[in-house]
Amino acid sequence: MNEAPKIFTGLVGQEQARRMLAAAIGQGSPSHAYLFHGPRGVGKLEAARDFAAALCCEQGGCGVCPTCEKASRGVHPDIDVLEPVGSFITVDQVREINRDLSLRPHESQARVFIIRGAGRFNAESANAFLKSLEEPPPFVYFLLLARGLDRILPTIISRCQPVRFSAAPPEAIEAFLLERFQVSSVVAQAYARVSRGDLGLAQALCTDPDLRDRRDRYLKIGENLGRAAWEGGASQMTADIILASSQAGEIAEQEDETIPEGFFSAPKKRRDQDAHRRAGQAQKRELNLALDILEMWFRDMMAMAAGAGDTILNRDYELELENLALSSKVDNYRRALEAIEATRAKLSYNVDLELALQAMFHQLREVL
Ligand SMILES: [Zn+2]
Repeated sequence: MNEAPKIFTGLVGQEQARRMLAAAIGQGSPSHAYLFHGPRGVGKLEAARDFAAALCCEQGGCGVCPTCEKASRGVHPDIDVLEPVGSFITVDQVREINRDLSLRPHESQARVFIIRGAGRFNAESANAFLKSLEEPPPFVYFLLLARGLDRILPTIISRCQPVRFSAAPPEAIEAFLLERFQVSSVVAQAYARVSRGDLGLAQALCTDPDLRDRRDRYLKIGENLGRAAWEGGASQMTADIILASSQAGEIAEQEDETIPEGFFSAPKKRRDQDAHRRAGQAQKRELNLALDILEMWFRDMMAMAAGAGDTILNRDYELELENLALSSKVDNYRRALEAIEATRAKLSYNVDLELALQAMFHQLREVL
């Protein structure tokens, strides 16, 4: 097989994973099951899609043939992506895979099943899956994806080749953003730094004006907290964040079903549960984003005040930081960081969101 020149172009800062997967294709002896594990946003799904294309393509992932082209658009009939329905990968989903296994590939040399959320098999579905995982037909490949190994059953781990993905270094993300998007070097550096290894977030900052707008609003809250007259006060700031969080939930709830019709389709009730769960997750993510951004703001204020301006994350806010940060207040900024951190911990215990945020803003106001 030829080298794979075009695939894995979207993989940023994952040299170890890239080498391992390219070698498996190049040597023509890929394993039948891989477990891609690593944090959110580092490109596991993109890598799985590329690797699946390489397995199906007769040239090992040339990037230009109809197989590669369909795979990259996510419409290749020999590549299926499975997601948990509700909280679990269900036994019905696994039975559907098992039924499908005996069929020859539709149009390529392989059948690839990409399984997201591999930590979410339950006892019954894991049991039904293990036999297929152990002895799949020669043309079948399983690519399992998970954030961490801790929630995956040892019986599943032991049957897979693990491929580790890690948070991408900011320099790699910065270079990628500069090459891919129309952004200035300051902006590329800012997005690379504030996304802290989450390539998905860095890319979204380049492409999603609404996300940029929310980031600006959360940074504005940080700015206003340090000013003598604070605009709107704690109630307004709290309301802003709660509104953004519930909007994120609504969008996620209405998102199109990611599971294609027919294959792996789920009954209506389960889809509703799934939509509800997605909404809850999106709300939590938005809330965390708001707290992350506030935290990074005060981290930058502290760095600027301490004379370490070159280490700030929000590079595109350098001027604002420079104007606002006072060297006499390094300790105040540190206490602000502690207040945000304490609120984050509190929120993981299902406390009243509105009260917790209001209390945080009052406390920030006090320490600043
Ligand atoms: Zn190809």
